[in-house]
Amino acid sequence: MSELRLNRATKEWIIVAKERAKRPDEFHRQKHEEELPAFDPNCPFCPGNEKKTPPEVFALRDPETGPNHPGWRIRVVTNKYPALDPKRKISAITGEFFKSTIGVGKHEVIIESTQHNKSLATLSLKRVEEVCETYWKRYLALKDDIRFKLIIIFRNHGISAGTSLRHPHSQLIALPLVPASIRHLLEEAMRYYDDHGSCVFCDMIHQELQYKKRIILDSKEFVVFHPFASRAPFETWLAPKKHNACFGNIDQEEVKTMASALKEILEKLYVKLKDPDYNLMIRTAPIKDAQEDYYHWYIQILPRLTTPAGFELGSGVFINSSLPEETAKFLRS
Ligand SMILES: [Zn+2]
Ligand SMILES: [Zn+2]
Repeated sequence: MSELRLNRATKEWIIVAKERAKRPDEFHRQKHEEELPAFDPNCPFCPGNEKKTPPEVFALRDPETGPNHPGWRIRVVTNKYPALDPKRKISAITGEFFKSTIGVGKHEVIIESTQHNKSLATLSLKRVEEVCETYWKRYLALKDDIRFKLIIIFRNHGISAGTSLRHPHSQLIALPLVPASIRHLLEEAMRYYDDHGSCVFCDMIHQELQYKKRIILDSKEFVVFHPFASRAPFETWLAPKKHNACFGNIDQEEVKTMASALKEILEKLYVKLKDPDYNLMIRTAPIKDAQEDYYHWYIQILPRLTTPAGFELGSGVFINSSLPEETAKFLRS
């Protein structure tokens, strides 16, 4: 018996294929990939190879060391092959039917560790705090640039999640527009707010906390859960309990509690699923909507345990071959 479930926040319908559902412990990686060395002389992100990347835009480093030299703990550089050009000015959209404009934007790489073989799951809490602090500081540094409308911070872990360099890193892209998919999310959240007078994400968090079975972590400031209508096995949301539309609105203390929750959940996935590939996205409101009552920022982690195929791409409906109630219980145990 399969079931169609609606994610109230994203308005996505998901098929939970109970007949085909696997047990949570059947999802772990079968064969381990090759062991990575702690240092790879050919890796542009390893210490000593600073000249192989574009110049540093930000770093946490020992005071006596200069930019673009070793001595850093975290380093942010412009992507060598940026998807968007930071030096250009916004220009008008041109074309009668085939419309286009100059690809203005920022594309940065956040190098999270000096060690080639680490990841957020295996770094110390102190280091994960510094990674989160860097996300936050880069967000704050770019949000007032009037060319940018939306800042996306994301992390691709593993080859099937789309990473080309194995050295631990995240990325940030500042976009000069708000894409239709994000506008759709906001419009749905606004509609819910008009109908119910509350934020759909706050309500979802409240409902999940009451139901308990899909909760993995419940700390003072953050909650981690597998949504009722998870689109893939082990899809995980990490959300602040206090209403807040924008990641940039958090304070230094919240950066720390977020890091602690993030480290804990990534460690659980690492241990229980044997280091799965995943995509992690900070889903935050467009810059101008940072104070809205109807949207709520959160971190979405999508492990790459199954591959979306023709049906998913053609319909936008995802088939989840696991039960979020079971996967959450598995991670809690
Ligand atoms: Zn490296
Ligand atoms: Zn909210």
